[in-house]
Amino acid sequence: MWSIIVHGGAKTIEQEDASANRAGCRAALEAGAEILKNGGSSIDAVEAAVRVFENDPTFNAGYGSALNIDGEVEMCAALMEGTSFNVGAVAVAKGVCNPISVAKAMLYEEPVLIAGDGARAFAAEAGVRLCHPDAMIPKPKRSAKEERGHDTVGCIALDERGRLATAVSTGGLEGAPIGRIGDSPQPGCGFYCDDNIGGVVFSGDGEQIARMILASRVMQALEDLSPDQAVEAALAHIERIGGEAGGIVLAPDGKFGWGHTSEDFAVAIASSASPDPKVYLRKGEASHG
Ligand code: ASP
Repeated sequence: MWSIIVHGGAKTIEQEDASANRAGCRAALEAGAEILKNGGSSIDAVEAAVRVFENDPTFNAGYGSALNIDGEVEMCAALMEGTSFNVGAVAVAKGVCNPISVAKAMLYEEPVLIAGDGARAFAAEAGVRLCHPDAMIPKPKRSAKEERGHDTVGCIALDERGRLATAVSTGGLEGAPIGRIGDSPQPGCGFYCDDNIGGVVFSGDGEQIARMILASRVMQALEDLSPDQAVEAALAHIERIGGEAGGIVLAPDGKFGWGHTSEDFAVAIASSASPDPKVYLRKGEASHG
């Protein structure tokens, strides 16, 4: 049995962007599902899915990331596996093409999170592809004032050996201060993973998600609630302090859950029981196969 779920961010999707969001989610899902179908690991599957998102300027991750107040790209990414609780994460990373691959290269290293110049130095040493920092900004150059919404991306996969993995990648928030780090690379905030309980990934207002430790709340709620109910219960805490968020969950039995307080939240799912991808732009929308 295998299962995979991806999301393209808690945000508002304008009509003209709907098909790009659907296509991007489907392509990311398919890249991960292909690995799982062939008996590959959940770690490889989530990396493959997130790399597709990072290479697609529709999403705020990798190429096409949000710009900070100085008009620069600073990216965060994390990958976690739920068997031995290894975490690899990078923050304020510049000049790497696929931050999720840097996070994966860090997975079995002692540090959980490396930020700034250290992240690029680690990537260089690990042989992960580097690029000029400006190469992550699509031409024509966007302005730092352009509104991007929350389009952090995420993925959770369960492989045939029952191993869960979660991955998240983001360009952060548009116009953010230099060096700002949101929830995405922080375990228990933007993501978490435990083979016995489930995996979770969030997108949205990073400060609020971190303040309310949303991923941690989902993990606790999953002991008693269904995946959908666990996300809803966590999102209720965001509503206490304001802000928008959306989250995805995958349980060890392959069941999916997701929810959002943002207007839209593009999600795609597939599993060995139902391998044809289903793509949704928001909860409650009829699926698009
Ligand atoms: N949560 C991300 C952050 O605060 C932003 C997003 O979801 O787009 O960095």
